Amino acid sequence: MTTTVAVIGGGYGGTTVAKELDSFTDVVLVEPREDFVHHVAALRGLVDPEWTDRLFYPYTRLLERGRVLRDHAASVDQSGITLASGERLTPDYTVLATGSAYPFPAKIDFRDSATAKAKIRATREELAGAEKVLLLGAGPVGLELAGEIKAVWPEKAVTIVDPAEGILPGFPDDFRAEIRRQLDELGVELLLGTSLTESPVSEPGQAKTFTAALTSGGEVTADLWFQCFGGAPHTAYLDGDLAAARQANGQVAVTAELRLPGQERVFALGDITALPEGKLAKVAGDHAEVVVANIRALIEGGELRTHTPGAPMISLPLGPSGGATYTVETGILDAATTSEIKGSHMMVSRFEELFNVA
Ligand SMILES: Cc1cc2nc3c(=O)[nH]c(=O)nc-3n(C[C@H](O)[C@H](O)[C@H](O)COP(=O)(O)OP(=O)(O)OC[C@H]3O[C@@H](n4cnc5c(N)ncnc54)[C@H](O)[C@@H]3O)c2cc1C
Repeated sequence: MTTTVAVIGGGYGGTTVAKELDSFTDVVLVEPREDFVHHVAALRGLVDPEWTDRLFYPYTRLLERGRVLRDHAASVDQSGITLASGERLTPDYTVLATGSAYPFPAKIDFRDSATAKAKIRATREELAGAEKVLLLGAGPVGLELAGEIKAVWPEKAVTIVDPAEGILPGFPDDFRAEIRRQLDELGVELLLGTSLTESPVSEPGQAKTFTAALTSGGEVTADLWFQCFGGAPHTAYLDGDLAAARQANGQVAVTAELRLPGQERVFALGDITALPEGKLAKVAGDHAEVVVANIRALIEGGELRTHTPGAPMISLPLGPSGGATYTVETGILDAATTSEIKGSHMMVSRFEELFNVA
């Protein structure tokens, strides 16, 4: 009898695991979305209409033998998965790959693609009419969004507000200085060490002019704002013996083999893991390779592989031709190289191949 595997979540890590296991196990991939959403390109998809459709890839041709179940895990315990539909799965192995939520437009909450695209298009219309844009949060999302807005509408005033004293903590000073230099060149205003005294009166992404006071004194006026902070792992479904692995911040403890502690057959990967490393699609992909190797080793015999968290790395485009990249191995890479790595094509070729739509 073939080994059965349930992969919960069809994002960057889950699709890689499902695809790789498809040839030698019976895979069920559980995913509530109609299509895979390439969130790495979501901010380009907001500002550039040509990119909106390119964020969505149908799951239909991902697996040859296995199946994709459009459902979501309501509860997962040691012995199986209860889906929202009521169906119960009891696979030999479970892979938790449910990722994290993030405020729109960085992540798109709608499960059906037509509604998601309509939301992106409507928000772009609002954004197009706004002269002054406020971004709350100077993390990678806020900075990348500022670059995307300036690339399409250089005349718009873009202000980023963040209570932290500096951008991108954990990265070398010369990398952070290079990003700041490019933001200055683009005319992006960075207000650090401060925050709004109260939330804006409008909904994020809704055009409505407002003035808000800053905790440092002074005020900021904008026609539209976006929230660029507040990622949260999807792990509320952990139940029974698995619930103990869930930490206060919602992340899941994992062993070096990427199993839940004390569990032989339940793996977790990607953004949900409580590992001290960047929450990146690249990292979720690295985790996926280890999980696949370990499921294979458990089935066929052999040594289990371990994952060691890597050093900080980032490829941060500021529009299609700007930005900078940092890895320990390469040091800082310039705007032209960052454009080659991500900014010019947003890494779509890998997904065209994975989802067989090229
Ligand atoms: C704007 C932006 C730009 C980024 N740029 C980069 C970049 O350039 N490079 C990079 O490496 N990373 C980048 N990232 C980070 C990257 O997107 C995440 O690290 C990555 O998505 C994590 O992959 P994952 O497989 O853990 O989860 P996800 O890709 O988040 O996938 C999780 C999936 O699980 C599903 N799910 C959730 N709950 C359930 C449930 N209960 N049952 C079933 N399914 C469920 C979700 O619908 C989703 O499809 C970026 C992120 C953003 C927001």
